[in-house]
Parts: sequence; C-alpha cells; structure tokens
Amino acid sequence: MILTTHAIIGAAAAQIFPTRPITAFFAGFLSHFLIDSIPHWDYKLLSMKEDKNNYLNDDMILNDKFLIDLIKIGTDFWLGIILSLFLYTKLAGSDPTIILLGALGGISPDPLQFLYWKTKSRFLAPLQRFHHYIQDGMHFRNRPFIGMPLQILLNIIVVSLVIKFF
Ligand SMILES: [Zn+2]
Repeated sequence: MILTTHAIIGAAAAQIFPTRPITAFFAGFLSHFLIDSIPHWDYKLLSMKEDKNNYLNDDMILNDKFLIDLIKIGTDFWLGIILSLFLYTKLAGSDPTIILLGALGGISPDPLQFLYWKTKSRFLAPLQRFHHYIQDGMHFRNRPFIGMPLQILLNIIVVSLVIKFF
C-alpha cells in the first residue's frame, strides 16, 4: 500500500494505546503488514530493479529516476503525516504525539526495505522475506483504477471508525 494509507491506518492502530507511546508505535508497525496482506495497488518506482529469480536481490538504483521516485515517495510521506494529524486531531480530538508515532510506525517497514536493498543485511533479511511473503498476492499492481479507489475507501472506513469509537 502507499505510504499515505500506511500513515493513516498506523495512526488509527496507535490510538488503541493512547497512553503508551512505544506500544502505539508498534501497533502502527504491525498494521503495516496487516494491510499489506490485503490485495492492493502501489505506484511504480522507476529506479526499482527486480530480480525475477530471487526477490532478495531486488534493489533501487540511485540514478536520475531515483530522484523522481524520491519526489513521489516524499509527497506520499508528507501527505500521510499531514492528513493523519489533521484528520484525527480535528475530527477525533486525538493526541498528536500518538498520531505521529503511529503514522511513523505504519510507514517504517518500507524504509526498512530500502535499507535491506542497500545493505543486504542478514539481520533485515527475515523481515524482508516476511514483507515480501505477506503481499505476494498483490492483485491490483497494474490496475490503479480499481486499486486506487479501493485504497481510498479503506482509509475512509478506518478514519470513520476512529471518529466513531475514539
Ligand atoms: Zn509494505
């Protein structure tokens, strides 16, 4: 899923633990894998180099296309942070620190993938395997016109639940 969705849903999960910042962060972190396991759409990263035979050899190449990816990812990141803070503080009166921790927790598995691609660290390999395994059935990869509205719908449902129950 895109980072905006991971932030919004991570921040929602964090609010189950409004007085426990560290638990709130990890609730966001876990929510990442939970929603990645739903068939979903993601935007293409132009600098991504995939190894069809072994995904553990995938990499992001630091070329000019990477700069375009960085702009995309950066926009996605900030949109997630700003929307989470805005929606939950304005509409649910939630604690901004908990929201921020949950949003960052929700996003963090994706930068950890980048760290794995760049370091091929044995320490990160199990997480990389799990992250890959969980979203193997990503059905909407090339179908943004189905995948995008479904992802927006998921966000609307989760935000509505937070407003109603927190
Ligand atoms: Zn992910």
